[in-house]
Amino acid sequence: MPSAIDAAGWRFDNSYARLPPGLFTRSTPVPVRRPGIVFLNEPFATRLGLDAAALAGPDGAAIFAGNAIPPGADPIAQAYAGHQFGHFTNLGDGRAILLGEQIAPDGSRHDIQLKGAGRTRYSRGGDGRAALGPMLREVLISEALHALGIPTTRSLAVASTGEAVLREEALPGAILVRVAASHIRVGTFQYAAAVGDPTLLPALLAHAISRHDPGLAEADEPALAFLEAVIDRQAALIARWMQVGFIHGVMNTDNMAVSGETIDYGPCAFLDAYDPTTVFSSIDRQGRYAWANQPGIAHWNLARLAESLLSTLPGDEEAALDRISTVLATFPARFAEHALAGWRAKLGMLTEEEGDQALVTSLLAAMEGIGADFTATFSGLAAAAEAPAAFPPFDAGPLADWRAAWRARLGRQSQPLADARALMRRTNPLVIPRNHRVEEALAAAATGEMAPFEKLLDAIAHPFDDTPASFPYRDGPPPGCGPYKTFCGT
Ligand code: AMP
Ligand code: MG
Repeated sequence: MPSAIDAAGWRFDNSYARLPPGLFTRSTPVPVRRPGIVFLNEPFATRLGLDAAALAGPDGAAIFAGNAIPPGADPIAQAYAGHQFGHFTNLGDGRAILLGEQIAPDGSRHDIQLKGAGRTRYSRGGDGRAALGPMLREVLISEALHALGIPTTRSLAVASTGEAVLREEALPGAILVRVAASHIRVGTFQYAAAVGDPTLLPALLAHAISRHDPGLAEADEPALAFLEAVIDRQAALIARWMQVGFIHGVMNTDNMAVSGETIDYGPCAFLDAYDPTTVFSSIDRQGRYAWANQPGIAHWNLARLAESLLSTLPGDEEAALDRISTVLATFPARFAEHALAGWRAKLGMLTEEEGDQALVTSLLAAMEGIGADFTATFSGLAAAAEAPAAFPPFDAGPLADWRAAWRARLGRQSQPLADARALMRRTNPLVIPRNHRVEEALAAAATGEMAPFEKLLDAIAHPFDDTPASFPYRDGPPPGCGPYKTFCGT
């Protein structure tokens, strides 16, 4: 039963906190010196049933900073494990507190988590805190993915703490209020399977199914059906990422949500020039999480989920392994299917032809050859479909040859070219959070100047709108920027 609705609209029901206690630790946020609100996502607050005006004042700041607990919340830190760059580690919420699950007016359930809320049982050597820059960066990138129609955790607010966090230098401290369908990760299942308590895994599985796939509770083998659902969501998600040039950057198994939402915005960034081997993260020295490696890594992570679920399958273990391996092996074909459907839309294809994948591959190869800007090339396609090309890069060189073959392909579909162009315009964004724009906004925010952040946020919230307001946000980096590097969001 959800708690009663309070004046600000909080209405919690904390189903995770009713699971066996081995899966979490009750913990309260560590109060901060001077709570303030740096960012509040008002439209999203309203969607959650919250009174944005009430939350914008000191009471809201106290809640977002962890100094006050909203009524009905039951704060916990979740336990989880994970493979980080291939190595298994016990982790858990070392700097995040789950306040509870807000029940929105439409009945949907949303984890409300404070990221940077102080030390917990799982903090290991860390301080439990977060710095303002990385939390604002998470707001920008998560809200960009949301506006692009890609499943993601959301950002409700960022609170300032009035305290410094010590990294390589002293930085202003902040707390991000992260909202998610759930925070159940592949690593949560790894934890439940690895720990010596046999009650954890079945309870977690039943909980995850009831939360994300209630229709599967009655399946012959719920664990297998759940695995299949997670595989399909991840195949769809990774295809969507790649088609906007998104590189997650730290696809450890603890950073993969079974809900199919993008989670954990650390060193992620978007491609400017197309190069499939691109890695932005300074700690990813082997290029494990490069743009093109993301489907292979997702498959590897899902194998860890499959392993974790194995013991819940009935009957002979070898036969169970066979069944689970068969499901796991569907990932590459599912990914290919989601990816091709997405590329077709980006290219304005309303029908299916045998040679479509080859056309995609040759476009990407031509783009790589000339270092074409990923976003501008795709958003220029609708104009390039005209004769003559109204987008100059397609006038000469390898892209001109490709354009001829592609125009012939579009000519073979019965739908008018206007339909194809409309499809291209709704699938190829004009605006993504360009790295140099993100840096510019964060640098200004560090000095207390929030206008560049707000303008950028506004532009990325309307990525497909061809309006003059978006012009400054469309271009790639100015010449001489050099390769972009990102750092883990700690
Ligand atoms: P991440 O790289 O954000 O996915 O975090 C990996 C693990 O490190 C998780 O268990 C986090 O809770 C933990 N962690 C990250 N930063 C901190 C911090 N400042 N203090 C404590 N734990 C942290
Ligand atoms: Mg993480």
